[in-house]
Amino acid sequence: MRPLDVRVYVDGVGAGDRAVLARAITLIESEQPAHAALAQEVLEALLPKTGGAYRVGISGVPGAGKSTFIDALGTTLTSRGHRVAVLAVDPTSSISGGSILGDKTRMSTLSNDANAFIRPSPTSGTLGGVARKTRETILLCEAASFDVVLVETVGVGQSETIVAGMVDFFLVLLIAGAGDELQGIKRGILEVADMLAINKADGDNRSRATRAQASYQSALRLMRGDGAPPVVTCSAIEKTGLDELWAMVVESRSRLEAAGEFQRKRQVQQVQWMWDLVEDGLRRALRSDPELSTLTSDLEDAVGKGRATPGAAALKILRRFAERAGDALTHD
Ligand code: GDP
Repeated sequence: MRPLDVRVYVDGVGAGDRAVLARAITLIESEQPAHAALAQEVLEALLPKTGGAYRVGISGVPGAGKSTFIDALGTTLTSRGHRVAVLAVDPTSSISGGSILGDKTRMSTLSNDANAFIRPSPTSGTLGGVARKTRETILLCEAASFDVVLVETVGVGQSETIVAGMVDFFLVLLIAGAGDELQGIKRGILEVADMLAINKADGDNRSRATRAQASYQSALRLMRGDGAPPVVTCSAIEKTGLDELWAMVVESRSRLEAAGEFQRKRQVQQVQWMWDLVEDGLRRALRSDPELSTLTSDLEDAVGKGRATPGAAALKILRRFAERAGDALTHD
């Protein structure tokens, strides 16, 4: 890819041009060092235009109906004048090369909507790297005047915690099981959810969905007390329950804003993001330093064979790193 001029990216994204936005995201996803510097320049220039979207994470196991749901909800929102961007964090894409949003036909209505922008998950890089790019992509979408950003993720591994850390509201889509509703869903996801929606509440499935709603609601009350998030039912196919669901998302935002919590949550996320990058950078610096890499692989061996304790070995690595960096990293 030959990058454009910084000005072209900044003006194009700022004007809401989807083609330039797509190219700016490609720049952000690039692994080339020269592109990384350019990408930061573009982001920096666009920073004053960011922060304006409502960032919503949507998670659920494959088959829960995420793409059908996003297609239906996104279309409802664009018909009300919103501009909707859909991004994905897919922990499986870096392993399989596939992508949960790879197939555009998954969201056939929204992908033909002039007020929507759909971007598949990058198919290379670690989950941490993908998450970093998604965070920056959210900012680009905001600069391009998208006022709703939906971040889709599969409910496996660490991805839901990572996505919950970059959005204002985290929605978990579920489907009613046969009496064992709470099985197969990890506790962690219930701890970060701001709302559970039992999808496919239509036809014969309606009463099972209502029963699942009640059992999730009581499980959440046990787990999270008075602060337990709401559990709703919806049908992405019949487009029922979506308006009510979105109204609750909007209402939750107003409540948080009135309490000063909304901005505070974003500030905490920004600071966490900074530390993630610092830790990332330190890990990379450690691993790319040739002298240290000999030391660390020797120590890995010693720790693995029980000849050194992890604590003593870590201290040696940190001391050596601090000496080389001329820094006082070992002080805490
Ligand atoms: P994803 O893997 O989570 O993105 O799930 P999809 O959106 O691809 O949906 C998986 C299957 O469930 C598809 O066959 C959909 O047609 C179906 N589906 C999605 N939402 C609903 C719904 O609200 N009701 C019913 N009955 N089927 C649905």
